Amino acid sequence: MAEKKLSIEEMAVFCKKKGLVFPSGEIYGGLSGFFDFGPNCVEIRNNIKKEWWKFHVQEREDIVGIDGSIITNPRVWEASGHVKNFTDVYVKCKKCKKPNKIDKSEIGKVRCECGGEYEVIGDLNLMFKTNIGPVEGSTAYLRPETAQLIFANFKLVAESSRLKLPFGIAQVGKAFRNEISPRDFLFRCREFEQMEIEYFVHPENSKKCPFIKDALKHEMNILSAEMQKKEKNPQKMTVEQALKKKIIGTEWLAYWLVTEYNWFISLGATPDNFRIRQHLKDELAHYSSDCWDLEYNFPFGWKELEGIADRSDFDLKQHINHSKKDLSIFDQETNKKIVPYVAAEPSLGVERSFLVFMFDAYNDDKKRGNIVLKLDPKIAPIKAGIFPLIGKPELEKLAKEIHANLKKYFNVSYDRSGSIGRRYARADETGTPCCITVDFDSLKDKSVTIRDRDTTKQVRIKIDKLRDILRKLIDGEIKFINI
Ligand code: ATP
Repeated sequence: MAEKKLSIEEMAVFCKKKGLVFPSGEIYGGLSGFFDFGPNCVEIRNNIKKEWWKFHVQEREDIVGIDGSIITNPRVWEASGHVKNFTDVYVKCKKCKKPNKIDKSEIGKVRCECGGEYEVIGDLNLMFKTNIGPVEGSTAYLRPETAQLIFANFKLVAESSRLKLPFGIAQVGKAFRNEISPRDFLFRCREFEQMEIEYFVHPENSKKCPFIKDALKHEMNILSAEMQKKEKNPQKMTVEQALKKKIIGTEWLAYWLVTEYNWFISLGATPDNFRIRQHLKDELAHYSSDCWDLEYNFPFGWKELEGIADRSDFDLKQHINHSKKDLSIFDQETNKKIVPYVAAEPSLGVERSFLVFMFDAYNDDKKRGNIVLKLDPKIAPIKAGIFPLIGKPELEKLAKEIHANLKKYFNVSYDRSGSIGRRYARADETGTPCCITVDFDSLKDKSVTIRDRDTTKQVRIKIDKLRDILRKLIDGEIKFINI
């Protein structure tokens, strides 16, 4: 397990030093809540999104994806209730004067981190406004979530893709929220990216999930609303027990909580750092009968990583009422037109996922004297580093040939500068799972030395086997010790 003693500020410093994340427009002083991502971070983010899409869309038969626009007809946001209700309570600390946002349910109950009491300033709508074209007053909004475009396009997508209930529609894309107090590095920003699914089921069969069997024996660290009220600690129990005791209200919510947890674990996250927490009654949105957060043990406490809500048929019905369009679909089983029910909406941020993978991968290896980022090879930005042992033309020529060959299939790097130890350390710090060294013997035996990031073990392999071995290592088909 990674030494997870790093603070969020130290993580921000590490990310800046390694060229991963910078305050946006830093030469002009940056802008609070906005970040720019450097080359390796773009790779990591793309890998996270690619793995999410593969797992949630491509490997399944019941989920398709869309890509809606960031700015859409503002009536979408009137119908969804965002124009009226997407507000936070804006408070200011009476002592240190720091602004913050709190939940309505927290008024009078929470204090500033300095211990001071909060003064309520008012409600602040979190949507960013803009104008369309040259006309002042033609207000539109930057989307605060991707979900609404799924609802607005629901019938078009369901019918053109010939989807049969139950099915999901997924989307990955930017979202914008004018957060009152962006903080904790990437945890709370004003521009971020979401990976969301609306999972639609028949309204008369909104609780039973046909996939629940595989999840039943799964054990989770559970903090129910009841436990929170009684100030109890989370309890470990199986999904089966949680359903039996009616702690988790529906099989669909249970199934998606397990599925989302499994996605993180399959990519190398640390199981003990996860728990699920039920929303308290006064935290719930008015249309939601139950909502759970997949929480992660961040250095600043257990916090929401992903929300998984039962959204009922609220959104589709709102869009039917506002647009006066029929968004119901024909259900072949019952021979009736129905408005489906959203049994679960898993909604996850790319930035918070990035932090989870980084915290769980970060290892300050005192023996090696450098940081080792033990990222899963699927998430790692660079899959292998290719090094000529020394700067001799014949070694460089062979190393460059290997690099050019592998580059067609993987994001690999070429590094000829500094001692081999220094190059290993640089590769460790970027999370590169393998280093491939070309030496004088390579010219004769057509083999190279491949070194494992996590164990520093080295094996000699034939150059013509490199591509296949790298692919298997990245896909998790083999472990380094099995080469
Ligand atoms: P919070 O209570 O932390 O403000 P939320 O409940 O408003 O979050 P959701 O609307 O459920 O968040 O958004 C779904 C997901 O999108 C979150 O779980 C998180 O991963 C991500 N997310 C939301 N707001 C932000 C933000 N300001 N910065 C980064 N990620 C965010």
